[in-house]
Amino acid sequence: MAYSNKARDFFSNELKNINTAGTFKEERYIESPQGANINVEFPVGAKPKEVLNFCANNYLGLSSHPEVIEAAHQGLNERGYGMSSVRFICGTQDIHKELETKLTKFLGTEDTILFPSCMDANAGVFDVVLDKEDAMISDRLVHASIVDGMRLCKAQLYNYKHSNMDHLEEKLKETQNLRLRMIITDGVFSMDGDIAKLDEICDLAEKYDAMVMVDDSHATGFMGKNGRGTHEHCGVIGRIDIITTTLGKALGGASGGCVSGRKEIVDLCRQRARPYLFSNTMPPVIVAAANKVIDLISKTTDRRDKLEKNTKYFRDKMTAAGFDIREGVHPIVPIMLYNAKLAQDMARDLYEEGIYVIGFSFPVVPKGQARIRVQVSAAHEKEHLDKAIAAFTKIGAKYQILGKKKDEIIAQYGY
Ligand SMILES: *Cc1c(COP(=O)(O)O)cnc(C)c1O
Repeated sequence: MAYSNKARDFFSNELKNINTAGTFKEERYIESPQGANINVEFPVGAKPKEVLNFCANNYLGLSSHPEVIEAAHQGLNERGYGMSSVRFICGTQDIHKELETKLTKFLGTEDTILFPSCMDANAGVFDVVLDKEDAMISDRLVHASIVDGMRLCKAQLYNYKHSNMDHLEEKLKETQNLRLRMIITDGVFSMDGDIAKLDEICDLAEKYDAMVMVDDSHATGFMGKNGRGTHEHCGVIGRIDIITTTLGKALGGASGGCVSGRKEIVDLCRQRARPYLFSNTMPPVIVAAANKVIDLISKTTDRRDKLEKNTKYFRDKMTAAGFDIREGVHPIVPIMLYNAKLAQDMARDLYEEGIYVIGFSFPVVPKGQARIRVQVSAAHEKEHLDKAIAAFTKIGAKYQILGKKKDEIIAQYGY
């Protein structure tokens, strides 16, 4: 046994350091299905409390939708529980192909390949298409899974200041002699809810002959008039070469991801993408339910329309109540508090008021930019939003931050 005291002490010390830094992540146990109302046991061992959920990625309210659950049951009955195989050996069913075809149509791309998750899609895709003589030019705030995916690829790494098109253009000029180049960005950035300037990015890509890759995990299903995503919102359908996205957020929220885009790239992923070749296929129960999700959101835009309305209502009312919120149109609504302890204290008080939200601070967001990140859902009814706004207003008044801007809040609490 080589798990010596030395190793044990080393790891316990690491854990202690995480605790001291105040960044220890504690899990809360939910004893109900995912939805607008959930029963949460917190702290562990406490009597479960019913709270309104404002921190899930359940944007369209499909996580526990009866028709989705029914489709999952049907998939389980008709195609079984597990596939015990990767896709290329004996893990591809007709319903996997059906889902890929539906996603292609919904996203408006040429072809789609499923992955066990979007993390896996990002881990696989760069290494498949780029090599040493190529360049990856990424926004500085891309998601951690893209950072990891780029690490697994030998192409040369460049980055540009967040959403700064002049800086991106500089990098495109700098890399002009390389073989292939790819601009890499999130469609929507998860901490601020801001949207990539995909129209300008596509213009630059065309001017400098570079490809464009977008991770649209926080947009697929609801951004744009038909919910196709950020590319629809920005009017650039057909101009994005690679879209990666997740089935784990708006699209039912179970799991799974995909690479969707140019046909040759998708074909190459089937041959070479390591998480596709060496990790198990998506289980039939999830695939069947995801097929239903795509049907539901293709048939009507009611859910994304309601989400848009809810988002506008919540943003307007919270602004009127005097909160300092990051402007935008996305259901991610960052309530800026700047001070980490203030964000934690307010989130705890809101929980006591029956509103489940999370305070985010360094290292998840930059130092001095602590916030409560609210996520609005189509599962929320007006009364839910009103209850949250009332609770926020009560707690905001308690901490005397209503009507105050950044400098005043910082003067009061520091950061
Ligand atoms: C959530 C998220 C992922 C991870 O998706 P999974 O399918 O859960 O692996 C990847 N990229 C972005 C931008 C995300 O927000």
